[in-house]
Amino acid sequence: MSLTLTVLGTASPHPGPDTPCSGHLVRGGGAEVWVDAGTGTFAELQRHTDPTRLSAIWISHLHADHYADLTAAFYGFAYGGLTLPAPIPVYAPRDCAARLAGFFGRPDTGFLGGAFDFRPLYDGHTVRHGDLTLTAREVLHDVEAYGLRAESGGRALAYSGDTGPCDGLPRLAGGADLFLCEADIDVHRDGEQVHLTPEDAGGVARAARARQLLLTHVGPTLTPENATARAASVFGAPTAAARVGETYTA
Ligand SMILES: [Zn+2]
Repeated sequence: MSLTLTVLGTASPHPGPDTPCSGHLVRGGGAEVWVDAGTGTFAELQRHTDPTRLSAIWISHLHADHYADLTAAFYGFAYGGLTLPAPIPVYAPRDCAARLAGFFGRPDTGFLGGAFDFRPLYDGHTVRHGDLTLTAREVLHDVEAYGLRAESGGRALAYSGDTGPCDGLPRLAGGADLFLCEADIDVHRDGEQVHLTPEDAGGVARAARARQLLLTHVGPTLTPENATARAASVFGAPTAAARVGETYTA
């Protein structure tokens, strides 16, 4: 059974026409997981699956370009006739339910429970859906943030989330068949360490001995083409920029 990543969005920090923010559909071992719910990705998700079939939702961190479309999904499940067989497990940083409730102007979170079953992430958090295993690794951002390692059938897919250079990354991506990595910034200005340059991404992929590198979250000071060339020059192995709508096999 294959392990695949379908790209729902890549934009940073705001969506553009036909380009939602960060979001992915990971499929393997009989499970389907929406990984990051960036702005615009709930619409894109529906091109590829029926949202009521999702096994889980996995959120790397609570920046709007990675989780804002949980609001769109809640509207679908609560008011839009998308009938869930059971609330969807949502693996996310601890504050996710309160943040979402705040959007609705509610101090309580119980009303979300018909759609979402929130479960807090932590470093090393591991869960299995079907024959798909999801493991969270803490990464370095300006808020609590995690990268994801998804494994099924002897294949591994790693996703950096948003992060600066950190020790957790090579471990997260170690030997991955497919490493989806952010490359948000051109340079580290003033010692800022909350995102990666293309060279950082290529260096992590190389240190981790990943098989293929896919860049995402390429920021406004870069283009996918130059980020790919810069990352590839360090990695020295297959490198591409993630494209919305494409499905990649680990
Ligand atoms: Zn972020």
